[in-house]
Amino acid sequence: MSAADLRKLINAFQLSAALHAVAGLGVADLIGDGTRASDELARETGSDAAALYRVLRVLAAAGVLREEEGRRFSLTELGAPLRTDHPESLADWAAFVGSREVTSAWAALGDGIRTGENAFRLVYGTDIWTYREHHPEASRLFDRAMASSSRAFLPALLAAYDFSRFGTIVDVGGGNGELLRAILTAYPNVRGVLFDQPHVVEGVDLGDRCTVVAGSFFDSVPAGGDAYLLKWILHDWADEEAIAILRAIRPNGGTLVVVDRVLAPPNEGLEGKLADVNMFVMPAGLERTRDEFAALFAAAGWRLVDAVPAGALHVIEGAPA
Ligand code: SAH
Repeated sequence: MSAADLRKLINAFQLSAALHAVAGLGVADLIGDGTRASDELARETGSDAAALYRVLRVLAAAGVLREEEGRRFSLTELGAPLRTDHPESLADWAAFVGSREVTSAWAALGDGIRTGENAFRLVYGTDIWTYREHHPEASRLFDRAMASSSRAFLPALLAAYDFSRFGTIVDVGGGNGELLRAILTAYPNVRGVLFDQPHVVEGVDLGDRCTVVAGSFFDSVPAGGDAYLLKWILHDWADEEAIAILRAIRPNGGTLVVVDRVLAPPNEGLEGKLADVNMFVMPAGLERTRDEFAALFAAAGWRLVDAVPAGALHVIEGAPA
């Protein structure tokens, strides 16, 4: 390791910005399985040919694209998930992570560290949920990014945890229903309830085995669930709010199925620790250790039964204490 390696880390945002920009142009779909000249790609995306070529050759040098004779580009195996039709597509994810809401909030991380304030609020003067409520385009971009990451995490989740033992699963903060749809498809005997904010679930239809309910999980959640699923909910909130959500579910009993990251010991788990800072920057939440989840559950009348690894995430199961 040397100063040159450190320089690469310092400059890493440049590569990430190049990926966001190219993903946003839809270049990967235009290339598809083929090889396309950068001039053609510029024409079809309404871009400046010289500028686009310079960015494409960066991605080729990074291994995301492959540059052939005559400024022609194809996708490598690494770059293939930039396509929207890839089974593990990251196109929606890239569009969200590259959006101004995310990049400008992250640019304020230093101010956040100095003040302890949520960086998003420092830049936008409000919290992400209120912002999204008033910016439908940003809200949909976020919902699509969540749906795409749910798809990516799904195989590991279904392999790690048996959802078929529940008659009815209430997905609390289930977004646009992508995860619940996949669970219902995998298990024909399970019924679902999708619960999220009114503007998020508006117009969502998951078929006749699923009802869709709008509301706030700080008030109450739909009754009658054998399982209350919370994927990527608790990490959005500081302890006080997270406990309030768990308390609002508690009167219904059932099994608590929390899907979140569990922080690794010191010097390990870079992805989870970056996710934790992302929670500080964006929703003013945090990632937690297993012990911190246990304390959260206990404060809301639940008992942590087990925390099972599911790929990069964990299923943290709770029962009424
Ligand atoms: N569970 C989904 C979405 C996670 S993002 C997934 O894993 O893909 C967090 C979700 O919490 C968003 O869909 C957001 O709309 C929802 N949310 C935020 N505040 C809420 C509230 N007060 N009541 C209900 N849902 C809320």
